[in-house]
Amino acid sequence: VELASRSLYQVIIYEEELEAARTDPLTGLRNKKFFYEIMPQAFDRAALNPESNPLSLIMMDGDHFKSINDNYGHQVGDQMLQDLAKTLRACVRSDEGDSRGGPGDYLIRYGGEEFLIVMENTDVRRACDIGERIRSAVENKSDWPGGIAKWTMSLGIATYPFDGKNADELLQRADTALYYVKEELGRNKVCHTQQVPKSFKSAKAAAAIGGELGVFDPAALLQSLATAQKTGILTVQARDGKQLWLLFEGGKPVQARLGKFAGSPAIVEFITTFEEGNFNFQEKVFSGKETMTKLPKLDETFNVAK
Ligand code: GH3
Ligand code: MG
Ligand code: MG
Repeated sequence: VELASRSLYQVIIYEEELEAARTDPLTGLRNKKFFYEIMPQAFDRAALNPESNPLSLIMMDGDHFKSINDNYGHQVGDQMLQDLAKTLRACVRSDEGDSRGGPGDYLIRYGGEEFLIVMENTDVRRACDIGERIRSAVENKSDWPGGIAKWTMSLGIATYPFDGKNADELLQRADTALYYVKEELGRNKVCHTQQVPKSFKSAKAAAAIGGELGVFDPAALLQSLATAQKTGILTVQARDGKQLWLLFEGGKPVQARLGKFAGSPAIVEFITTFEEGNFNFQEKVFSGKETMTKLPKLDETFNVAK
């Protein structure tokens, strides 16, 4: 009996630890780990009949939350997140549907003041209705901690099977819709990814990639930027002060400078003589109105000799 009760106890402890690892301690909502655990199961269920069991994902982010922290302190900020979690709970079908992991709504604190709701058997229209319900519940709440009278959220939505076939694709589409709300619609709105103009590219997507040669050798670095069809400026600084500047347009090197070398000879010099150094790639993202010709010309913009 003692042996049996001891192993039972171990099982209970183990389950509790597992539960804690999937839960956000501040809000009691599920966390990112849980999200990546349940998504494959939710997709499997939806895939049985995607047309009649669509899966929608809402991604939301608090508006100007940094200034709330700055003005009222982090403690009030934390309490706001706890209050927000309660508000969100009241807006969804039920927290996680049934506890056996069947179809339902899953509320997740993805990080900071970013939250996700995974909604099974929920089409675009219903997802937008729920998004609007949440947006308006947050906007109309007036008894926030610290005497704050108003706070708003921005929401982006994407729906399987139309907008993506796995968690990452859906997340990316919902994120684009969210950033469309932040950058183009003035926040405090709900937007489904299908409403985002094709030409929209988030300024946030302009990535700076940097690192050390050694992990990448020079040829592999150029190859990876070419394969990814990147547009932007690559700079590589060698330990001895030699510096490469290379302009990519859609993965093609269009201008290159390395000391007295220009064009292809500069690239050859780079590949054959650089063994180590720091590289930085600043991607240029076009908003749709701009064209490729807006790229700076190395000759005009950079005094390479200096
Ligand atoms: P935007 O409308 O563009 O989203 O503006 P924002 O200020 O909300 O910008 P962003 O989402 O990038 O910043 C999130 C801020 O949230 C940064 C940080 O100060 C705050 N934050 C993140 N996690 C926590 C947390 O756990 N507690 C508190 N109090 N603040 C947090
Ligand atoms: Mg925010
Ligand atoms: Mg944020």
